[in-house]
Amino acid sequence: MTQVVVPLSNPEPRFLIERSQAARQAGADLVEVRLDLCLQEGASLSAVLEAIPALALPAIVTLRHAHERGAWDGDEAERLAIYERADAAGAAWIDRELVFHAARPWRPKRAKLILSYHDFTGPGVDLPGKIAAMRACHADLAKVAVMPLDASDLDAVRRLHDGQEAVAAMAMGEHGLPSRLLAGVWGSALVFARLPGDAGSAPGQPTTADLLEMCRLRQQSPATAVYGVIGSPIAHSLSPLIHNLAFAHHGLDAVYVPFRVEDAPGFWTACGGWIQGLSITIPHKHALQVQMDDLEPLCDLVGAMNTIYRRAGGTVGTNTDADAIRRCGERAVGPLPGRRALVLGAGGAGRAAVFALRAAGAEVAIANRTQARADELAREVGCRAVAWDSLAAERFDLLVNMTSVGLKAPADTPWPHAFPSGAGVFDSVYNPLRTRLIHEAEAAGCRAVVGLDMFIDQAVAQFRHWTGLEAPAEAMRAACLARLSA
Ligand code: NAP
Repeated sequence: MTQVVVPLSNPEPRFLIERSQAARQAGADLVEVRLDLCLQEGASLSAVLEAIPALALPAIVTLRHAHERGAWDGDEAERLAIYERADAAGAAWIDRELVFHAARPWRPKRAKLILSYHDFTGPGVDLPGKIAAMRACHADLAKVAVMPLDASDLDAVRRLHDGQEAVAAMAMGEHGLPSRLLAGVWGSALVFARLPGDAGSAPGQPTTADLLEMCRLRQQSPATAVYGVIGSPIAHSLSPLIHNLAFAHHGLDAVYVPFRVEDAPGFWTACGGWIQGLSITIPHKHALQVQMDDLEPLCDLVGAMNTIYRRAGGTVGTNTDADAIRRCGERAVGPLPGRRALVLGAGGAGRAAVFALRAAGAEVAIANRTQARADELAREVGCRAVAWDSLAAERFDLLVNMTSVGLKAPADTPWPHAFPSGAGVFDSVYNPLRTRLIHEAEAAGCRAVVGLDMFIDQAVAQFRHWTGLEAPAEAMRAACLARLSA
């Protein structure tokens, strides 16, 4: 079973004890006392060692040297003397770097020994060889932590667990986060997680809540199906929140994680084999089509793919944005045939909107800040392009914002003009939930539809592709609202 470790680095023993209690309450199994960080914060060594028996969870004691990206700078003889004191004080585990252990072997008398290998700047060298060396040194647990250059490096970390016991291999940073969130699927012996509000002891540590509640670590096993979203950036994505909620709602043995990916084809080549389904967001919606066994016709037509699912062993690419946009348009103005729709934006989402609204029978006009993109899309689809600086005179029944204007910028709007009376407005931006465009449209008497509706709709359709089941849309919406208003 994967044990959850919360790192502690408080300067005062009473805070160490309090945080260890909070760690136990959060569901952790162990704490890691980062002696080097405690000492850096001004702790007394003796006081910290004396606190070890009073901690609410068994402790890993680690004294990481400055050469190992730690904060301690004594010599190795002094470090061993401190480790001996920690062992005598009741540490459950002592964590030592392999390279120092190999040069000067040492074993605690009572505690178990973790041997570690870290690479904070790259994906590491000969990782299986490092684990074999740790075994040869009789480590009770072999730990590897590396910095992936991209998410494709995750696969090498995953494979370190194959057929091995007592191995904890992890990738650091945002690119490495899935290695931690999938620790139970990969069979890692340990996973480090921080208490909400804490900084953690290494880049990319998830919170105990994300690991234990959102990703249900305790239910994970090698049989758990892995899903995720790829994008860059990806930390802001609400998709893990809602898809994990939907998997839990149906009691499915599946987990969904955020993959920060720069090179999407490289990632899919390396990791696609163990991923059941994928959501795809900016900037990768055009990147993976050629790697699919099949593409749904709509995806081919729109030229953007936001979903991968599997059918009879093959991978299929599709686009669930387009149908979600159509539904949002209908919510704003009712049946679309014959209605005049003005789409702002000719990026990936704008393309999906133009195709979806055209296919639903609307009369579509397209405007884009960069005129050439609007002209090209209009030519391709056979609709009208409108110049960005003559938009004020444009008449429409439905205004659809598919630009990123307003995203995390509540003062910005893509439509600083008057609204025709009785028009409907759909803003695809959902952070903030209610944009300036939505506020002004409602104030002008328009029926306004928020981007969260599209986000939930496209996710529900993805979930249907993956599981054949209906996702709990209202619970997903409530979870997003809570997160967005937090
Ligand atoms: P994209 O391909 O990067 O396109 C961005 C679009 O925004 C382009 O048309 C761009 O115009 C325009 N734009 C950016 N800054 C602008 C500015 N200052 N003034 C005017 N236009 C500007 O991104 P995308 O995939 O199409 O996504 C666009 C937006 O749709 C996202 O930001 C997101 O808010 C929304 N979206 C929502 C959902 C949902 O589920 N609700 C799903 C997908 C997307 P240029 O061509 O001139 O650069």
